[in-house]
Amino acid sequence: MGWAIALHGGAGGIPLSLSPERRLPCEAGIRHCLHIGVEALKANTSPLDVVELVVRELENNPHFNAGKGSVLTTDGTVEMEACIMDDKKRCGAVSGLTTVVNPISLARLVMEKTPHIYLAFDGAEAFAREQGVETLDSSHFITPDNVERLNKAKEAKRVQIDYTQPLHKDKKEETPDADGNSKLGTVGCVAVDSFGNLASATSTGGFVNKMVGRIGDTPIIGAGTYANNLCAVSATGKGEAIIRGTVARDVAALMEFKGVSLKEAAAYVVEESTPKGNVGLIAVSAAGEVTMPFNTTGMFRACATEDGYSEIGIWPNSVENGGDNH
Ligand code: ASP
Repeated sequence: MGWAIALHGGAGGIPLSLSPERRLPCEAGIRHCLHIGVEALKANTSPLDVVELVVRELENNPHFNAGKGSVLTTDGTVEMEACIMDDKKRCGAVSGLTTVVNPISLARLVMEKTPHIYLAFDGAEAFAREQGVETLDSSHFITPDNVERLNKAKEAKRVQIDYTQPLHKDKKEETPDADGNSKLGTVGCVAVDSFGNLASATSTGGFVNKMVGRIGDTPIIGAGTYANNLCAVSATGKGEAIIRGTVARDVAALMEFKGVSLKEAAAYVVEESTPKGNVGLIAVSAAGEVTMPFNTTGMFRACATEDGYSEIGIWPNSVENGGDNH
């Protein structure tokens, strides 16, 4: 048993032709955050602190869709959301944030300072002020790239969806929002220490051109984020599909009820029970295993384990792979 960490910077239709201007800052951000997380685990920082630390760093990086750099609603505003959970099933979640610099830290405060799990919109903003967390005018979070991305999404031909029809697992779910370029950037981190303590954290601006008030999978316990005494999971992709599939909880449930390994459970959820092109996840187990499957074109991701394995990747083949694959 040893420590392990994995982080993601979003799954989706990441084109192989992704320009170096888009790719390199994301890769650098992922690499930097992996380093920070690994050093923190080596220094015996608790997994809960590690996942918060790493996600804060990703939120502060404008190249990811969380915190500064969050994608915009159809009204051109930001509505950020985040969730944190540990192996004792302590959890906190926030939605509809417009001024909070680090939504993940507010989610942790909800977990630690309130009798509740989930605060949203005005109530969450008021709680942020009461707690004295850093806030900035909402214009701080809006980047020129995201204004352009919203304009492109609005121009893009809308796909008409019949929501009354059930989804087939092999059928790609379409959403009425955007082009592949927008399916980027939600962030997450999962970590386990050598005592088997686990934590998961996820943060996002959601989907470009989302309806005002839309809540995705990220802050929903068991959908985008979950942890228990067996594993910690953070998912990314199309929120509506992830919520329907209770993706993060399903990984834990397969381990709990069927006794399968982390890798088998995660592979089943991603390959067999979620529509293709919709989801990626990162997960670690109490025993220090790590897995990062996705059924989208790519997922910005990285992981490391105590025995020296590390990997950084976007598409199915890793960018960097150091150590034995396991
Ligand atoms: N899952 C996020 C959402 O639907 C988006 C993403 O992961 O890119 O809000």
